[in-house]
Amino acid sequence: MSVQQFPTNAETPVNFLEKVIAATPGESRLEMCIQCGTCGGSCPSGEDMDHTPRQIFALIRADMEEEVLTSNTPWYCVSCYYCVIRCPQEVHIPDIMYTLKTMAVAEHRYLDSIAPDWSQTFVDYVENYGRSFEFGLATRHFLRHRPMGLMDTAQIGLGMLTKGRMDLSPHKIEQVGQLQKILNRAKELEADT
Ligand code: SF4
Ligand code: SF4
Repeated sequence: MSVQQFPTNAETPVNFLEKVIAATPGESRLEMCIQCGTCGGSCPSGEDMDHTPRQIFALIRADMEEEVLTSNTPWYCVSCYYCVIRCPQEVHIPDIMYTLKTMAVAEHRYLDSIAPDWSQTFVDYVENYGRSFEFGLATRHFLRHRPMGLMDTAQIGLGMLTKGRMDLSPHKIEQVGQLQKILNRAKELEADT
């Protein structure tokens, strides 16, 4: 079986922090993290994550590769960019989460299917509609993986529906075909690397 080679921005990464920075396209700014915790406080997926993004970045600094790559945190990141907008250090948090997912898959460290399934469902909605669909995302997740928790969250969902903060059916963005062309091109480029 072939071992995936990560792209590198640095010559010879000597620890996990450098390895993650080197494997993240562009400027990750991971080394600029001041552990303020703003990212975790902004994250809509925070409750389901094993570690907050701040904790993940501390573990990376501590060279705790195994703990990071077996955490579900990167898989629950849905690239909403709330944390990026609020981060005082402009750390490119979702890009780092993508790097960690790529590493976990390549090294067969993350074997649980629940969080990757959440991530895939989110991607499916974005590819088909150009945006996330919270009602469908939550319903599919609970039906597949936590059916007993469905009733607990149904009350919250009902409240959001009645206040008009959540839709019952997905809506496509305008010119979703343009987005699909970009995504297809990105997949082609990824397959070529
Ligand atoms: S908000 Fe930015 S600086 Fe603060 S803990 Fe998160 S990544 Fe680090
Ligand atoms: S981009 Fe990811 S880590 Fe940041 S707030 Fe959104 S889900 Fe959380």
